[in-house]
Amino acid sequence: MKKLFFFIIFCLLSLSIFANSLVKNIRLNTTVPQLVLDISSKTKPKFTSSYDEYNRLLFIEIEKTNLNSKINMSKFIGKNINKIDVLDYGKNLGLFIKLNKNVSHKVFSLNNPHRIVIDFRNNGSKKKEFTVTIDAGHGGKDPGAIGFRKYREKDLTLAVAKKLKAKLSKDFNIIMTRESDHFVTLSNRSRIANRGKADLFVSLHINSSKSSKAHGMEIFYFSKKSSPYAGRIAAYENSFGEKYGEKTTSIAQIMGELAYNKNMEKSIAIAEPLNTSLSRRLNMKDRGIYGANFAVLRGFNGPGILVELGFISNKNEVLKMSRTANQNVMADEIAKKVRNFFY
Ligand SMILES: [Zn+2]
Repeated sequence: MKKLFFFIIFCLLSLSIFANSLVKNIRLNTTVPQLVLDISSKTKPKFTSSYDEYNRLLFIEIEKTNLNSKINMSKFIGKNINKIDVLDYGKNLGLFIKLNKNVSHKVFSLNNPHRIVIDFRNNGSKKKEFTVTIDAGHGGKDPGAIGFRKYREKDLTLAVAKKLKAKLSKDFNIIMTRESDHFVTLSNRSRIANRGKADLFVSLHINSSKSSKAHGMEIFYFSKKSSPYAGRIAAYENSFGEKYGEKTTSIAQIMGELAYNKNMEKSIAIAEPLNTSLSRRLNMKDRGIYGANFAVLRGFNGPGILVELGFISNKNEVLKMSRTANQNVMADEIAKKVRNFFY
């Protein structure tokens, strides 16, 4: 009899130890933006959480826990939560939360009484500090240089420009001088950047040479003096302005001497490491950086670079530059160096 009594006590005890915890209530805390799950449990509830960044989906699984009663989840949808669902699958409890854009989160548990808390932080209002102008060379009636298999400079520069925008727009205000195949004069390009108070001007071009062997990438910055070689490239790019009815000599340099020197210094600070890393990543020749009197850079009131991504007249290089994967590498490396330039 005594044995049976102890056996029953033992069974009852084990039942209470192994019984599942209960979520008594789910509530939204409004003073601090957080979702709180009140849990009735003898022991600290165990949970795991995972987050799918791409879908902004947060999944929390609470071990050995059930839902006390049905809870209307739609009332939690608002500033931080886009969608929410709770699933009691007998043994464990799952919580699915789709967060709104720019909302970050933290999941933790508290004792006395037991709670699981999901903290939300809205980063949406974070002001972007810097503005970058991305200038896809040529466009519309001006195809730029035409190369092997009739590849056109204006198409390749736009493709890279769009990818660069996608990589930078999360952290920077981006101004595009053009986003489609249309003509923009050289003076308008710098005017667009000045009007938007851009902190950096990145112009994308593709080089061309009479020799199909010429290859590699080079970056230019604005300088009143130039070497004969750099002067030739600047004259070549400026000639497109003249060809389509723009008097490029009339584009004035609007910065004073002090700003001119400072901007040149800053332009070199991004051009140099960028040309090295870009050519290395694409296994292309590093042709160096040069200062020259580019009309499109002259009119901009700040540091600027003009990247000649490669030679359209070189069969291997144009095929390389036309591949999406390589365009992504180009955009990625330029984006990296833009970030390093500001931060
Ligand atoms: Zn060009």
